[in-house]
Amino acid sequence: MHNEIGFPVGASFFLPSKNFADDLSSMKKLGFTVARLEWPRNGFWEATERTPGKYDFSVLDQAMKAAESTGIKLAVQVGIFPPRWLRSKFGGEGVVNEKGLSMPPGQRNSVCYDNPEIMTRAKALIEKTVLRYRHSSGLYGWIAWNEPGLSWSDITCYCRYTRIRFQGWLKEKYGEVEALNEAWADYSQWNNWTEVEPPHMLQGFGSYAAWQDWRSFIDENYARLVSWVSQEIKNLDPDHPTKVNLIPVLENSTPFGVDPWEMAKTVDELGLSIFDITLYGDYPHLVAQSMDSGRSFAKAQNKPCWIDEIQAGPNYCSHPRVQGVSPERAALWIWQSIARGMKGFTYWLWRPRTSDWEGGEFGLVDRDGSIIQRTLAASEVAKTIGNNSHLLESSFPKPKVAILQSTAIQHIMFGEGMDQNLPFQDLGSIRSKSHYRDSLMGAYKMLWELKIACDFIDPGTIKEKGLDEYRALILPYPYLLNKDIADAIKEFVQSGGSVVTEFPSVMKDENGHVYEQVPGADLWSVFGCRERDFGHVEDGELITGQTENGGFEFPALHYRQSLDITEEKAKVVARFTSDGSPAIVYRDVGQGSTLLIATCFFSGYLTHDSADASRFLSYWLKQRAGIVPELELIGLPRSLERNVEVGVLYGNDTTLVILINHNPVGVRFGLRSENMGKFLNLVNEQEIELDNTSQSKELQFSLDPLGVLAMKTMETGERK
Ligand SMILES: [Zn+2]
Repeated sequence: MHNEIGFPVGASFFLPSKNFADDLSSMKKLGFTVARLEWPRNGFWEATERTPGKYDFSVLDQAMKAAESTGIKLAVQVGIFPPRWLRSKFGGEGVVNEKGLSMPPGQRNSVCYDNPEIMTRAKALIEKTVLRYRHSSGLYGWIAWNEPGLSWSDITCYCRYTRIRFQGWLKEKYGEVEALNEAWADYSQWNNWTEVEPPHMLQGFGSYAAWQDWRSFIDENYARLVSWVSQEIKNLDPDHPTKVNLIPVLENSTPFGVDPWEMAKTVDELGLSIFDITLYGDYPHLVAQSMDSGRSFAKAQNKPCWIDEIQAGPNYCSHPRVQGVSPERAALWIWQSIARGMKGFTYWLWRPRTSDWEGGEFGLVDRDGSIIQRTLAASEVAKTIGNNSHLLESSFPKPKVAILQSTAIQHIMFGEGMDQNLPFQDLGSIRSKSHYRDSLMGAYKMLWELKIACDFIDPGTIKEKGLDEYRALILPYPYLLNKDIADAIKEFVQSGGSVVTEFPSVMKDENGHVYEQVPGADLWSVFGCRERDFGHVEDGELITGQTENGGFEFPALHYRQSLDITEEKAKVVARFTSDGSPAIVYRDVGQGSTLLIATCFFSGYLTHDSADASRFLSYWLKQRAGIVPELELIGLPRSLERNVEVGVLYGNDTTLVILINHNPVGVRFGLRSENMGKFLNLVNEQEIELDNTSQSKELQFSLDPLGVLAMKTMETGERK
């Protein structure tokens, strides 16, 4: 869905907001285009229908009037979190967790929408709201759901309505109860559908199939609900986009009930609430990973992704870590979102809330609404975006590497007590049992530092679209994989793709059936080796090997496999130092190649940060898959070079390049640009001069600490 703004940029507000009209006027003058409206505790319904059937839209009416007169467009929340009177009359037991306890009434996640009474009344609210504003010139679009999450840590919902719905879902899937009994063999035996109980936590002799069904149902059920809201809106107003913003995308979302790949199907525009820095600390690769994850979920459905919320000002009481926001940082985050292919951006918040939770925090302007340095820095970027809006809207990254991300693995990891859902432990802690999360993070970090663009892809998307647009596929911590996806991977290799995997190299299918040969699903025949046994890694265990570029050595982590080589042409390129057994096996297959690393290689990178490990992967990607960095930065030590982010976006006849210095010090480096021609600075429209003093044909760049350079290749008409 094309929007008339191109690339919208703005900030969020909690309603009611003091001097809202004045704030929108300031925004307009400063080059911003959109405002996103939320209500405390998702309380839009509570504020609008205080008594049954009596609607009060006065706050939104005024907001819309201000938007119409200033020209700022509003993304309006149509949250269906019910008001108190409705909760106490029809809420019933509400959401019930796996211990049988209900959430205290009034909490954000305390209402179960499988309760039909609530949905009938939600429909009336949606209708009233959409019909009232759908023709307003101040309307950008509709927030169908803000930060969907069934809970933050509990497994839900075991209420009677949800149980009945689950039984119906199973009946549709299995047909006969005997078929369910067979599939859930290790769980319980049922005589009829109404007896069927959802499983509780998986730990302790649980059935993977039962758990996978239960969590897949919950994910689909929640996506169905968000989709219902979106569709109700679109039935009345097909002209404005619907949105949903996810949080947090780097953690296991099983207890949230949110499969991001499913959520991307529900609305027109996917969004992200990114608070990685106030959750984890200052790791720029994590922010980038969140953005690339969101972009990938949306891309699978051919939809755009936004940053709907990212910190605009300092936090204090709220969130685990305190973080101030300098003007440079405020500007950097918009540029980073552009570099990662986002198509819209709203800060959290414009003006800080005047009371309560987050009160006085997160503002892009001061508490009295006055403009500060940070506002001006963001404004500069907003104006540049305005001047290049349609170019930014129509330019995209074109990754040649995909990282497999599997919701099925996340379900089981959570159920097994491995991946939890919030970052309680420091990143890459050696004691961390979040193997899957850490492996995804390690793989992404490596590629991000190497300036190799990547997509995430899930099994569903592989099934639907295949892997044709990629040259390499990374399988981080591939615990579970079904045969049909393994077959697609084999085909990918035969036709020229390169695949790298690591421990546990496809041990089981998604329902927990163990493959007798590992790599499972017959993948061992492609990788040219087979696991004989596996065990834990002793302290100090290293992997050493040799490439044409010289030797390398890095630590193993968590587990190691003993491998039998099954194909003559498979080459052992590295060994465990303690006993000399094979640690990395390489093989040419068909037009492509495979690589198996017999330990937790990617989470190992997050923990040990080995330059040799990164160099090895980079060598393999270049030699075997023909994948090189998007741009090569020359003359920087690795310690600085790795934290200069590169974003390359391809438009119809222009290429955008965004360079971001995440280092706390300034950097100067060269850039070879033989293939790219001349560059125009996006901010001042000046041509970037070639440094004739250097011997090779290099462009020389300097970036301040947290500095950004955005440029585009010159179109023929623009050249002097
Ligand atoms: Zn329920």
